[in-house]
Amino acid sequence: MNREHKDEALAQVDPEIFRLIEAENRREDESLRLIASENYASRAVQEATGSCLTNKYSEGYAKKRYYEGQQVIDEVEELAISRLKQLFGQTAAGSVDDIHVNVQPYSGSPANLAVYLAFCNAGDTIMGLGLPAGGHLTHGHNVSITGKYFKSVPYGVRQDNHLIDMDEVRKLAKEHRPKLLWAGTTAYPRILDFKAFREIADEVGAIFAADIAHIAGLVAAGVHPSPIGIADVVTSTSHKSFRGPRGAMIFCKKEHASKIDRAVFPGLQGGPHNHTTAAIAVAAQEALQPSFKEYARAIVDNAKALAEAMTARGFSLVTGGTDNHLLLVDLTNKTIPGKVASKALDRANIVLNYNSVPFDPRKPFDPSGIRIGTPSVTSRKMGKDVMVQLAEWIDRVVSAPEDESVISKVAAEVRAVCAKYPAPGLRV
Ligand SMILES: *Cc1c(COP(=O)(O)O)cnc(C)c1O
Repeated sequence: MNREHKDEALAQVDPEIFRLIEAENRREDESLRLIASENYASRAVQEATGSCLTNKYSEGYAKKRYYEGQQVIDEVEELAISRLKQLFGQTAAGSVDDIHVNVQPYSGSPANLAVYLAFCNAGDTIMGLGLPAGGHLTHGHNVSITGKYFKSVPYGVRQDNHLIDMDEVRKLAKEHRPKLLWAGTTAYPRILDFKAFREIADEVGAIFAADIAHIAGLVAAGVHPSPIGIADVVTSTSHKSFRGPRGAMIFCKKEHASKIDRAVFPGLQGGPHNHTTAAIAVAAQEALQPSFKEYARAIVDNAKALAEAMTARGFSLVTGGTDNHLLLVDLTNKTIPGKVASKALDRANIVLNYNSVPFDPRKPFDPSGIRIGTPSVTSRKMGKDVMVQLAEWIDRVVSAPEDESVISKVAAEVRAVCAKYPAPGLRV
């Protein structure tokens, strides 16, 4: 009983951290976790993450390392890469033989920095979806190094339907001739048209990078179209809908392999996190099982069911609904700011985040909306009935955000439902 042994050690050596981990375990068990970027990593993934592989230094790549003793690590890394190729090859546009994979980036943001380092020089022009429209900081936002060291030209969404404005992308690309064009989102509820981005990138001679951090699980399962084989480079985290450890991966065309590898190491990083690499291999193995396809489909079914139930209660959804794992709710018509709503819901054991909506008249730290994601609740095998109940709970709390008796009643109901749906990876 390796696991028990380990936890005993932690309890003895550091009772304070042990107690805090127990508390977080309880919080994750007893609440509805709806932050769209979060999930429940399996016990198997956590065991790999917590293994002795954390002890090993292995700067370089398999068969080309700077330290000895890589007999096992090389196999771990090659296994992670071959499983990811097999998995993402199932839905890629083209043959996996043309795809190179790097599993060493420490997380999604460093993976994206590697793309800049591989293809751009400081001062070059780059384009990505603006943060207020649902983009990511690392796609050129001005507080990020990517907005400070590069000339960022953000594109947005259309005023009438809040969909990404491909006409604007083309117009801006022709005007500014970016070196790099990003497609990828953190708060956008619709399918991305990777082929349309590819065409625009080709028209202006740009590198096309797709960032599937949020939707990697959906892409792996064929529930969202894959950019692999279309984009020059595809970056992703491994811990969001993909349900692996905290980490990242980069897929690129073979012709870009050495540029990407050199950008990750030695360009940006030192030794790879081998325990994470092993856990990515485990997550890929889990995602290769038929049940993962069902899981990904259920994520979207749940999001659609929740969208319908929220709409029926008079909530206004950005773009009117969802095709993926998240909804963005504009609370303006409910006369409650997003932050007041998210804080009241947190007290009711419903955990999500406040979020800007497109063309938000309010400030980013106090915006008009909330974002709701279904990957975590779907990992607990909650289904449509819970989504309908969830809309009712949200409605009740948002209608009385200062009524602590309402909130504590909802919290108790949430805890009772959570008790019926064990979460993967937690200790009970
Ligand atoms: C989450 C996310 C990232 C960054 O990942 P971290 O692991 O938090 O650094 C990058 N791009 C997109 C689109 C994301 O959603």
